[in-house]
Amino acid sequence: MQKNDEIILEITDVTAEGSGVGRYEGMAVFVPLTAVGDKAKVLILKVKKSYAYGKLLELLEASPYRIENDCPVFARCGGCVSRHISYVKECELKENHVKNCINRIGKIDLLPQKIIPALKSECYRNKAQYPVSQSGKFGFFATHSHRVIECNNCSLQPTEFSAICEIVERWIAKYNISLYNEETHSGVLRHLYLRKGEKTNEIMVVFVVNGEKLSHCEEIVAELLKAFPEEIKSIQLNVNREDTNVILGEKCVVLFGEDHITDIICDVKVRISPLSFYQVNRDMAEILYKKAAQYGRVEGKKIIDLYCGTGTIGLSMASLAKKVIGVEIIGAAVEDAKINALANGFKNTEFICGDAADAAKELVRRGEKADVVFLDPPRKGCEKQLLQTVANDFSPERVVYISCDPATLARDAAELQGLGYILKEYTPVDLFPRTAHVETVALFERIS
Ligand code: SAH
Repeated sequence: MQKNDEIILEITDVTAEGSGVGRYEGMAVFVPLTAVGDKAKVLILKVKKSYAYGKLLELLEASPYRIENDCPVFARCGGCVSRHISYVKECELKENHVKNCINRIGKIDLLPQKIIPALKSECYRNKAQYPVSQSGKFGFFATHSHRVIECNNCSLQPTEFSAICEIVERWIAKYNISLYNEETHSGVLRHLYLRKGEKTNEIMVVFVVNGEKLSHCEEIVAELLKAFPEEIKSIQLNVNREDTNVILGEKCVVLFGEDHITDIICDVKVRISPLSFYQVNRDMAEILYKKAAQYGRVEGKKIIDLYCGTGTIGLSMASLAKKVIGVEIIGAAVEDAKINALANGFKNTEFICGDAADAAKELVRRGEKADVVFLDPPRKGCEKQLLQTVANDFSPERVVYISCDPATLARDAAELQGLGYILKEYTPVDLFPRTAHVETVALFERIS
């Protein structure tokens, strides 16, 4: 096989990133925008030692799982990868992907529980960070790039977000607002960052700016409040003068209302600040936390909740548990967690700001043990040292691991199995329909 060859390929698998895969002359050929079950004419773009990349030229036989894609920027915006296949099939592929990771990377021969599908596959996100194009329109960065694909009405977002984008775009045009240019690191408005409390309907609008000020602020605040007088509870500037890819700076300035919005999850009122993590799909996060609580059997137990964000997991269990200790690295999130505990009347909680591995060591020095440890790390998973501290020093009866990356979960599962724990059960939960992402909750039990 060579570059520019045209081949006929049957698509038999899908990658973690959502690209179709077929096998040709013993090589894996990756073809974006194809679906398992397609037979396609493919143009070979690049050939490596054991794999190749191709482009879909013509669909000869369409997969039975195909559906009509309804989004004009599909596969360009860096978001959805599955809009061309049925949601039922997407769930099956995600479950299979989690299983393969546990079996192949973790080398653990255990099947997953059935994936819990999302309640809705559209309008499920409560957070969007839109970069602005040089023509003053909002959108998303293309995959592996900083080219803005203009799109202000993404169907994964709440409908209010599209209306807010349009209002801000009109204001940009009317007042000729200075727009940030990444190449020259000049101009002011970088991103529009929106959040919504799905249960409370509260909305936060944040303008991320390269500077301390944004001209014609009063006008846009008035316009936004005119359109959403009940919903918008917070309008803020976030100052980011750095020449980096990181979207948010550390400083926020309130232009209107509060410095946070509130949402309710698992009957717990949570305060959400711009810099705090909050699951982007509230309804499914609730289901995820309930599954985690079921795995943890937390009644009367002492819990340590590592990577706790605003404390949502621990707080959702605090009324049943004896004690909850949460650890989180972002100061603003820890402050939110403490206020959330107070606001909900919990007196059995403690939140610590720090790196999970360091804070865990500190807790050990204090003589803390735990009955159940919850781990909910970012994509890169847990540090080995942290897993050792958890297993050897806290030595809980159960570890419940919530993961947004099945590959690192599988790696850490193998590590935990080497430390005297066994993976008893795991359930994929779809918090991110149409995208390549999937969440998993896993239960580990101490062997002796
Ligand atoms: N459990 C929370 C947050 C999960 S996201 C929830 O369900 O909402 C992962 C969290 O880990 C983020 O809040 C992030 O700020 C935090 N984090 C990232 N690296 C960390 C580290 N080294 N130590 C502690 N927390 C960390």
